[in-house]
Amino acid sequence: MSSVQFPQKLSLGIFPTPVQYLENLSKILNIHLSIKRDDMTGVALGGNKVRKLEYLLYDAKQKGAEIVFTTGGAQSNHAMLTAACANKIGLTPILILKKKGVTDRKGNQLLESLMGTDVRFMDINSYDDIYEEMDRVGKASGKPYYKIPCGGSNALGTIGYVECVKEMRDQGYTFDRIICAEGSGGTMAGLALGAKLFMPSCRVTGMMVDTDPFDEITVRLMKEAAGILKADIEISRSDFDLIDMCGPGYAIPSQEGNAAVALMAEKEGLFLDPVYTGKAFAGVIKLANEGAFKKDEKVLFLHSGGAGGLFALDM
Ligand SMILES: *Cc1c(COP(=O)(O)O)cnc(C)c1O
Repeated sequence: MSSVQFPQKLSLGIFPTPVQYLENLSKILNIHLSIKRDDMTGVALGGNKVRKLEYLLYDAKQKGAEIVFTTGGAQSNHAMLTAACANKIGLTPILILKKKGVTDRKGNQLLESLMGTDVRFMDINSYDDIYEEMDRVGKASGKPYYKIPCGGSNALGTIGYVECVKEMRDQGYTFDRIICAEGSGGTMAGLALGAKLFMPSCRVTGMMVDTDPFDEITVRLMKEAAGILKADIEISRSDFDLIDMCGPGYAIPSQEGNAAVALMAEKEGLFLDPVYTGKAFAGVIKLANEGAFKKDEKVLFLHSGGAGGLFALDM
C-alpha cells in the first residue's frame, strides 16, 4: 500500500461517522447491506459536503479569505453546508445559486434564511457565468475572497472522500463494494481513489443523478487528488463503475427514487432524499433484483445526507 500524505484541514464535523448493518433491507433484498451515516456529519442536517469543506475552508483561511463564494442549484445541500461551515469559522458566505428549481423559503432555503445567509439567484444555465459573477462581486467588495466550485468537487474537496475510506478501514471494516450517489463527482472520485489506496479489493459504483460526463470527471478528479496526496498509482476508467439513475432529470424526483426513499424509511427508520440518495438507493435495489451482487458480497451504501431536499420537493 502506498504511503500518502493528507493535506491539513479544519475540524468542522463529527467523525468517524457510524456504520450500521441494515438487517431488514439485507433480508428483503437478499444481500449483505451496511450504511455509512454521513447524514450524521455533525453540521446543520449533516451530509457529505462537510468532509470536503474541512479541506476547502482550511485552504480558504490559509489564503486569507474573508468571503467564501459557492454555487449550486436553488436547493443545493452543498451551498447550505458551505454557509453553515463558513459562519462557524468567521468567514462570510455568499451563495450565488441557479434560479432553476424551488426557490421558496422551504428546505435548504429556509435553513439559509435562518442562518442569515446572503443568497442571490442567477437565471442562467452555465456555472461559468456564476464564477464570473463571483469575481465581479468579490472584487467590488474589496475583500479577499475564495471560490468553491459547485458541489465542492475539485481535487482538494475530493480528498475528503479518500479519507472516508481510510476512516472505514480504521473502524475495522472491509467492504467488497461501496455505492454512492454521483452529482458533481468529488464524492465518487474520492471513494474510488480511497478504495484503491486503503481497501484494494473493494469496487466503487457511482449512481449518476445528473447527466454530466462522469467518466471523464471522475478520472480527472481521481488523478488530481492522487497528485495532492503524492500517491504513486495508475488511475483509469476501469477503476470504477457508473450507472445512470438520473431518471427525468437532475433534482426532479423519479418514481424508483421515491419508492427507495419510502422503503428505507419504512424498514429502517432512515430518511433518504429525492435528489441524490433516493435515486442512488434505487440503483442498489435494481442491482439486487438483477442478482448483480455475489453471494457473500459485503455492500456499503453511503448515506450522503440531503435531508433539506425532503422538505422542499413534491414527491
Ligand atoms: C452533493 C450531494 C451528493 C453528490 O456528491 P458529489 O460529490 O457532488 O457527487 C450526494 N448526496 C447528497 C445528499 C448531496 O448533497
